[in-house]
Amino acid sequence: MPGSATGWVRPFACPGAVAGCAASVFGSAFAMPIDGPLFASQQQMSMAFFMALTILGALLFVVLATVAANRALSRKVRATIRDLSESEAKYRQLIENASDGMFVADLDGTITYVNEPLAAMLGCGAHELVGRRIFEVVADTCHDEVAAALSPSSMSRDCQMLDVELAGCGGKSVYCQINTSVIRKEGAPVAIQGVVRDMTQRRQLEEELRRQTEEARRFAAEMMSIYKVAVATTSVLDLPALLEVMYEQVAAIIGNESFFVALFDEQASEIRFEMVVDHGVRVASFARPYPTGKGLTEWVIKSGKPLFIRDSSRDMEHVPTEAIMLGDKPLSVIAVPLSVQNRVIGVMSVQSYTQRFEEDHVRIVCTIGTQAAIAIENARLYRELKAKNELLEKSEAELRRVNARLDRQLAEVTRLHRIAERLAITDSVTGLFNHRHFQERLAEELARCERYGRYLSLLMVDIDDFKQYNDVLGHPAGDAALKAVARLLTRSVRSTDIVARYGGEEFVVILLEAQKAHALKVAEKIRARIEAYPFPNEDQIPSGRVTVTVGVATYPTDARTQKDLIYLADMACYRGKREGRNRVIEA
Ligand code: GH3
Ligand code: MG
Ligand code: MG
Repeated sequence: MPGSATGWVRPFACPGAVAGCAASVFGSAFAMPIDGPLFASQQQMSMAFFMALTILGALLFVVLATVAANRALSRKVRATIRDLSESEAKYRQLIENASDGMFVADLDGTITYVNEPLAAMLGCGAHELVGRRIFEVVADTCHDEVAAALSPSSMSRDCQMLDVELAGCGGKSVYCQINTSVIRKEGAPVAIQGVVRDMTQRRQLEEELRRQTEEARRFAAEMMSIYKVAVATTSVLDLPALLEVMYEQVAAIIGNESFFVALFDEQASEIRFEMVVDHGVRVASFARPYPTGKGLTEWVIKSGKPLFIRDSSRDMEHVPTEAIMLGDKPLSVIAVPLSVQNRVIGVMSVQSYTQRFEEDHVRIVCTIGTQAAIAIENARLYRELKAKNELLEKSEAELRRVNARLDRQLAEVTRLHRIAERLAITDSVTGLFNHRHFQERLAEELARCERYGRYLSLLMVDIDDFKQYNDVLGHPAGDAALKAVARLLTRSVRSTDIVARYGGEEFVVILLEAQKAHALKVAEKIRARIEAYPFPNEDQIPSGRVTVTVGVATYPTDARTQKDLIYLADMACYRGKREGRNRVIEA
């Protein structure tokens, strides 16, 4: 029996103690001292004999009484022992049949009792555990905790609860909860007993729950980062801002210290490292020619496949190309292609100097890379478009400036052209239309008159004796007189009428819508005005005044052709000269 083997139950210290006590009583009686002569006389001897008899009788009584008491006590003791044995058997059965493991250990940690459930829990026989030290069946990681529980200071507490890992037989490991209590004798701790409950399954469940919670938390964080990248991809058109979001989100999930996004510019045959972070520090962007035949980035662009170096100290022989290091050699590297419609537009890479990436990290970087590729392409196109637009705007501005200059030049040319045109039809001395323009206008007006059946009169105005005026007052004065006559003519007719210098000191006036009578009135008005006009120094010329002779011819009453009309007006003027000048003559 285990109880017998371990001596676990000790109902009392020693049943022979009562006999010991009785022996001491006898011992003390027989040890009484006897001094002096033994008997003085017969009486004394009788007396002594009687006394001795009395004492003997008393002793006999004592002995008999003691034996009787002893027997009664023995019966009681036996009954108690029997009760205790029954009790022990009962409790032992209870303990052996308990579902929890139980043990008892000395204060120095030596196991003195183990019940079957605990032995089974640890995969041992109970005999393999009894006699061993508690520390031998406790996992190394829990030694401190157990040592604390066994420390003298802990003995003051009656109960303790420990969560420890026990090391059973055959390498078996069991997570247990142990409730210990101190066994005391007369108030002083003498042993420790413990109830052990197997918590392995619960621990496994807790571990699984914790793992799933952690997984869920990580997944949520991952989803949030991917969501943020997704939001950025639809709202951020500025390439640096987009790359910044990508870096922040990737780093938040993976915790990488280094990161870059390189874009492949096929036209320029180069790889542009648009965003580079090394050891958490932003590095200025730069470009590298493509192809060079080496480099991880170039390999990813060419192959369109992701590259994963879990541990660069071991895995480099599997890397398909020679790496070009930008700085320190990272421990772990992930580089994924950024593809749009099966076309690799660049590479996104994360690196760490301290941690080894896992397949999960590759998956996350791939997901974010796939999501961001279109946005990066859009941002890149937007940037190009913006640059082109700016160029276009500059060109437009330049074009506008050139146009404005051309407009100004055109306006100047037009102005000069108008001046030239005007000069071409204008007489330089008087500012009136010249002879050629007069002929053109007369032809036009006659055609209109013919078409619409309208009237038109022609006045031929010749300054009288103008040669004398020149001769007396000089040619410049003659020019001034010509201008003055021109002004008087213009002011004497309607703005729609046409006044021109016919040649020399001769003028013509086309009076539109004017029949003969009206034309004669106008001619007379002209004549009178010129006669009345105070020409400078006109008193010095023989006639004493500047006058004109006017010949009047009307279409269609006098002539129907241009040539005839001019001729008739001229003839009328000529006739007026002959008749004495300073007059109006109709054809
Ligand atoms: P008549 O009364 O018969 O017309 O006599 P006249 O002297 O006016 O005519 P004539 O034909 O003999 O002379 C015309 C003069 O007009 C001659 C010329 O000196 C002058 N003359 C013609 N053109 C100009 C000009 O542009 N400037 C100046 N100052 N004089 C001119
Ligand atoms: Mg003349
Ligand atoms: Mg004249």
